[in-house]
Amino acid sequence: GEVAIMMDVSVTEIISACMSLGMMVTMNQRLDAETLSIVADEFGYDVEFVTADLEDAIEEIEDAPEDLEFRAPIVTVMGHVDHGKTSLLDYIREENVIAGESGGITQHIGAYGVQLDGGQKIAFLDTPGHEAFTAMRARGAQVTDIAIIVVAADDDVMPQTKEAISHAQAAGVPIVFAINKVDLPTANPDKVKESLANMNLLVEDWGGKIQSHDISAKTGLGVKELLEKVLLEAELLDLKANPERNASGTVVEAFLDKGRGYVSTILVQTGTLRVGDFVLAGTTSGKIKAMQDERGHDVEQAGPSTPVSVLGLDGAPQAGDNFLVMEDEREAKDIASKRRQLQREQSVRTQRHITLDEIGRRIALGDFKELNIILKGDVDGSVEALTDSFQKLSTEEIQVNIIHKAVGAITESDVLLASASDAIIIGFNVRPQGNAKQVAEKEEIDIRTYSIIYDAINDLKDAMEGMLSPEL
Ligand code: GDP
Repeated sequence: GEVAIMMDVSVTEIISACMSLGMMVTMNQRLDAETLSIVADEFGYDVEFVTADLEDAIEEIEDAPEDLEFRAPIVTVMGHVDHGKTSLLDYIREENVIAGESGGITQHIGAYGVQLDGGQKIAFLDTPGHEAFTAMRARGAQVTDIAIIVVAADDDVMPQTKEAISHAQAAGVPIVFAINKVDLPTANPDKVKESLANMNLLVEDWGGKIQSHDISAKTGLGVKELLEKVLLEAELLDLKANPERNASGTVVEAFLDKGRGYVSTILVQTGTLRVGDFVLAGTTSGKIKAMQDERGHDVEQAGPSTPVSVLGLDGAPQAGDNFLVMEDEREAKDIASKRRQLQREQSVRTQRHITLDEIGRRIALGDFKELNIILKGDVDGSVEALTDSFQKLSTEEIQVNIIHKAVGAITESDVLLASASDAIIIGFNVRPQGNAKQVAEKEEIDIRTYSIIYDAINDLKDAMEGMLSPEL
């Protein structure tokens, strides 16, 4: 089955090729190296075996339950432009004073940790917006535990608010709403809550379960209470990590500093990172020479949910890259260089996302259970009509999920969401805007646009029945 997908031929063809070699195989059977080479050759492919043994050096460690300790939640702030994301992050950064520390956090390292009066900690990703959040997710990194979605109370739920909600939901990340700008005389928090209720998002004071708090990022009103609600949410999530193991986590950002070399901000998610550790981060590696916290102080070690900027990597890893401490420096170097080589090769054949043409075949393979769709349209009526019709196409074998729907052109952020969630994008009377088309080509996201509802439904239906004629 996997080989069929990689070579873009049907499973039956592979099975009959094996039969002609005298082998009776099933779709889920693994082929040995020799058979693979012969079969691939029949279809004009050369097989190159990427030795998995190097990556095998990366042990998956299972933590014993008794080694697990509470860790601080990692929070992303999202919301519509100008609703106050940056102001909120700035307020928290500047006002929060750790016991014994004077002054706020002055460094921008891409993430920062704060400590509340009660001693509890929260780590914030300092790049507001769902684009950053989803770009990381598209790289396979799930860093955020909780999303704060900011909505300005003098405005309303806006298109990017809805996007942020969809992005958080697609990632399965719980939301805490911050109804912002309540210091303004024109603020009407209830209007926002009503709009949320109309989207089936009932906040607490409307009898629902979703937490929300009225705040002013400008005066600081309610921010403390908002953070307490974040902690409450974190308690429900029961976040834990083992601090007594080699560290691993995610790269938040990295750049080349003229004087210091490559500086990378990494967020430790499990284990404890120490100066002197050998680290493998994406396609880079190195020995940690020094670490600094968000206050610019040198630190010797960083435990779970702690962001630190580190010196010593031999390159700039990408945001969203995984990092981990390796026992053996040689091994870390080898894996990094192998990955660089693979990356070069893969830039030629990039990762494949689902396309409408491929759905039928993947369903037949049996490895495809859910079809994620992002739906954009010119008017609400058609978006709703299409949502209904698409959902009705769900069968026992395959569930159709509309992971995001909205009125408006297809944006780069839609494409990133599609990439992170392996979705296809359907546009009704709308087209890709700005960079969306280029990014979709790069990420290999299937965008289909229609102007007749019937055509859209029929195409999807045909695709699900494996009968779609390839798009010309
Ligand atoms: P972002 O685009 O979501 O990051 O929004 P910003 O944080 O840049 O805020 C947009 C504008 O709203 C700025 O001019 C802020 O000063 C203002 N603003 C943000 N929060 C508040 C608030 O709580 N009250 C008032 N009155 N203005 C605010």
